[in-house]
Amino acid sequence: MAQLTPMMQQYVDIKAQYEDAFLFFRLGDFYEMFFDDAVKAAQELEITLTGRGQGEDRIPMCGVPYHSADQYMSRLVEKGYKIAICEQVEDPKTAKGVVKREVVKMLTPGTVMDGKMIREKENNYLASFSIFEDESIGIARCDLTTGEGAVTMIQGGQTELLQELSATGAKEIVVSPNIEREQLTELERLLGVTVSYEEEAALDERYKHLVEDLSQSKLVTTYGRLLNYLSRTQKRSLDHLQKVEWYHAEEYMKLDLHTKRNLELVETLREKKKKGSLLSIVDHTVTAMGGRLLKRWIERPLLDEAKISGRQKAVTAFMNDYFLREEIRDELRQVYDLERLAGRIAYGNVNARELVQLKKSLQKIPLIEEKVTSLDDSFKDRWFTNEAPFEQVIDLLERSIVEDPPISIKDGGMILEGFNQELDTYRDASVNGKKWIAELEQKERLETGIKSLKVGFNKVFGYYLEVTRANRHLLEEGRYERKQTLTNAERFVTPELKEKEALILEAEEKMEQLEYDLFVMIREQVKDYVPHLQALAQTISEIDVLLGFATVSEKQHYQKPVLRPVGDVLIEGGRHPVVESVIQKGEYVPNDVALHPGREMLLITGPNMAGKSTYMRQLALLSIMAQIGCFVPAEKAELPIFDQIFTRIGAADDLASGQSTFMVEMLETQYALSKATECSLILLDEIGRGTSTYDGMALAQAIIEYIHNEIGAKTLFSTHYHELTALSDELEHVQNVHVSAVEEDGKVVFLHKVVDGQADRSYGIYVAQLAELPKEVTSRAEQLLKVLEGQNQKASISTEVEIGNETDNSKVKEPVTQLSLFGEELIDNKNQKTAEKKNDRNKLHTKEMDVLKKIQEADLMNLSPFEIMKLINDCQQELK
Ligand code: ADP
Repeated sequence: MAQLTPMMQQYVDIKAQYEDAFLFFRLGDFYEMFFDDAVKAAQELEITLTGRGQGEDRIPMCGVPYHSADQYMSRLVEKGYKIAICEQVEDPKTAKGVVKREVVKMLTPGTVMDGKMIREKENNYLASFSIFEDESIGIARCDLTTGEGAVTMIQGGQTELLQELSATGAKEIVVSPNIEREQLTELERLLGVTVSYEEEAALDERYKHLVEDLSQSKLVTTYGRLLNYLSRTQKRSLDHLQKVEWYHAEEYMKLDLHTKRNLELVETLREKKKKGSLLSIVDHTVTAMGGRLLKRWIERPLLDEAKISGRQKAVTAFMNDYFLREEIRDELRQVYDLERLAGRIAYGNVNARELVQLKKSLQKIPLIEEKVTSLDDSFKDRWFTNEAPFEQVIDLLERSIVEDPPISIKDGGMILEGFNQELDTYRDASVNGKKWIAELEQKERLETGIKSLKVGFNKVFGYYLEVTRANRHLLEEGRYERKQTLTNAERFVTPELKEKEALILEAEEKMEQLEYDLFVMIREQVKDYVPHLQALAQTISEIDVLLGFATVSEKQHYQKPVLRPVGDVLIEGGRHPVVESVIQKGEYVPNDVALHPGREMLLITGPNMAGKSTYMRQLALLSIMAQIGCFVPAEKAELPIFDQIFTRIGAADDLASGQSTFMVEMLETQYALSKATECSLILLDEIGRGTSTYDGMALAQAIIEYIHNEIGAKTLFSTHYHELTALSDELEHVQNVHVSAVEEDGKVVFLHKVVDGQADRSYGIYVAQLAELPKEVTSRAEQLLKVLEGQNQKASISTEVEIGNETDNSKVKEPVTQLSLFGEELIDNKNQKTAEKKNDRNKLHTKEMDVLKKIQEADLMNLSPFEIMKLINDCQQELK
């Protein structure tokens, strides 16, 4: 490559420090990008790729205009990219050689402060994690728009890390450059986050006050890395950051990533939309801050009984007084986003219009306080103890800022008359000057007799007198000084006019500067109240969420659940909150759930589409709703406080991850089995479906036995393996239930009612008929089903193979030796071979049965160790 020009050299040097970001390089009125950045940006932004230089040395280049750069930048950031904004930091007119340029700020997904990427009802978190030598993991998060920061420590591996990171909902994650790339790729893939690096984890002195409450150095280091990244990329004061809160992950119900997604808590599984999620049902908040808090609550249900009942108490109070509740909500609707306003005040990017929003919001608070505390005295201690002197802020803003100021803080028009004497003097000068000019117009019209004579103003020439060409002859020569000739008119000035103009312009310029200075002063004064505002925002959010709970509970006839740290599940007339909202009113069939000793695990069978998944999810959702303090869709609900909920629902292929369905199924099951406790809820839907029938059935049975014998967690297990229902005879706490269906005039009607006992058939063919599969297929399937059912009565794996349990010999059925799976009448020449293969398999089966029988009958107590070894050896030989 030929020698680079000095400016390109400057570009290359700066770019080298921002390898992982698009470098927006300011050149006059444009931001330009070069080399690979240019090629990629042109593609992503659909803008023209040009070049600089000639021939082989031509450098790819593309650019966006400075004044509309924001939209291009936010499009890139939204796609997960980072941008380094490089400005000219000296005046090109006075610069010697190449104008000095520096990166003044970085825009990244986790640090954007405004624009489309900031959703009202969602936090915009940047997170970070550090893995320590003892394998503990520190996790920190921060929302730059609100200043909120939090840290926690967890133990565990990649799954726990993913679980906790997903709970933060972060858009970007900052890590040490030492973390293995492989681990990060998985994070990027599963969480859809942007990964950034920060080497330095030591906390800067300036920020020590933020971590005062953190007792562990690991927590400080974890937060330190995040803060250093913020300070390196934002390159400005981070005064608005709040004290970092240490939250204990174990204070909340654990919900792993898959469970959260499967249960569609905050977004739907496929479309990733809020509509159709639990959040969309319970979200009746009227403020953006309330919306954000609710989302955080749903992602972290509580474990503490007292805290839950505290929330329930408020919901009850709000439910009891419809009118007052609605009045408070009306007031809240007029409260702006205090949390983000506080963030902007401290960050220094608030404008006058937002300060008016702050004033209006604060004016509402006393009334809200009065109404809320009138419902229950104790709410005063709960929410309104730290009375902040907000009257002073209101008073300041009432005196200083006009009701409807412009968005820009540079052009004046913000400060009220009477607030500052100097400003008023300038204003008078400007107003008087303008008045004089208006009078001049009248005077000159009279004196010259030219009625159309007018005074105008433009930025280049200032004030002028304009006379049309037609009237020019009426003007006495030398009356004015000629300034500009237009096609149809001529423009003039007079020395007096220029004098007044100078006075007006000077006054206006001074006014603008003074207004700006005054505005900054006001902003600085308000900044002192930022911590109070943040606390107030928290209070308002909580009240808003709880009022929302009361609203939805009343509207949808939810009932207050009774929660106990441990205990039984007793739900009468429970409904799935989302499903009931999408089907016709009154069509939802309520269901009971009872789980107690002797009935800790339910094996659910029933036709496809009957409502098994709905029933299972319903219990999980009701538990989560109960543990966030909301009431639940049921006539009556008694629930234990679940420490964790695990789900393995559906058999959707996780193609994006490159893992097979069955592997995903097994991984999730493994996770549930290794982490669940007696106090957990496990939902397993059609486990084992992803492999061959016997394989699947055997696994399903083994899993049920393991949960039953080793864990004791409350479990709902739906299956299409009817054979498994026999387990309820052997496992003390397993109970069969099924979703009922009836046949009417040859058609199946799903009753969606869950009742005790097992289903007698699975009705899959009827579902196929409903789906309008060709008639040939469904009638052939019916024909085959009859044959298979005939066979099945003779061969049932679950009761044939009983390993380990004390077994009544009479229970071991005689093996079916010459079983033809398709029945003689169906075997034609074509499928003769298949039938033979099946026969081989059945013979094998017989061999296994012999071995099992041998083991079962062996009298171990009267055999020597050597004889036992021999027995096993014989068995092995037979199996070969
Ligand atoms: P399954 O898991 O048995 O295949 P689903 O739980 O997916 O069935 O339910 C299938 C459909 O049946 C749901 O989408 C819903 O529309 C309807 N459904 C399920 N349960 C109920 C119920 N209790 N009342 C009314 N409709 C229901």
